Formats: sequence, structure tokens, C-alpha cells
Amino acid sequence: MTTRSEAGDATCPYLRTGRDPRSAAWRLESLTGREKEVLLLLGMGLGNRQLAQELGIAERTVKAHIASIVGKIGQETRTQAAIVSALAHDVLCSDPSCTRHPAKVSGRHRGHAAA
Ligand SMILES: [Zn+2]
Repeated sequence: MTTRSEAGDATCPYLRTGRDPRSAAWRLESLTGREKEVLLLLGMGLGNRQLAQELGIAERTVKAHIASIVGKIGQETRTQAAIVSALAHDVLCSDPSCTRHPAKVSGRHRGHAAA
């Protein structure tokens, strides 16, 4: 049996790095409806081509959206943005039938203050 010398590796990465991707969730409000849509799908792990197909837009447009999103939510890469998306799905998703919303008021749409 080996005694792992790097027992410190068990440290929770949230504690170790002092980062919490979900803390970017409040910035999501600055995104447009389309950007939220792109980000939601990005959080599903889709690549540019799949995103383009899913949204019926050009790959180039997808890239432009992602660049804008990454900047707006204060991240550096699309991967970081995807992680924020996955963790903050309940903030982004406005589908009333979504089952991933933690006990949100059902029935009415919230947060969509129109434009
Ligand atoms: Zn959802």
C-alpha cells in the first residue's frame, strides 16, 4: 500500500483556489436573450458547429456571440463560460418546464423584464 505524499490534493478546489465559477452568475443579467441561449447550450458542452446548427445561425456568428458573452460575464475562455453556464443553469433557463430549477415559483416567468 502506498501512502500518498500528496494528501493535500484532497483539498477542495473551491478552497484551494478561492474561486467559485458560480459567483459570475449575477453578471448573466447583462446578456441579451440570444446570448443567454448560446450560453445555455455552451453549458451542455456543445461545440461551435453544433451550436450553429442548434440555433440556425452561422458558426461565425456563434463565435462572435461567445466572445461577447465571455467578456460580459468576466471570464477569459469559453470553457470558463461553459462552467458558469452549467452551474448557473437555473439563472439562465427560462423554460417553465425545466426540472433543474431549485424550487422556483412556477407558473409565471420571472426575470424577463422585457426590453
Ligand atoms: Zn433548464
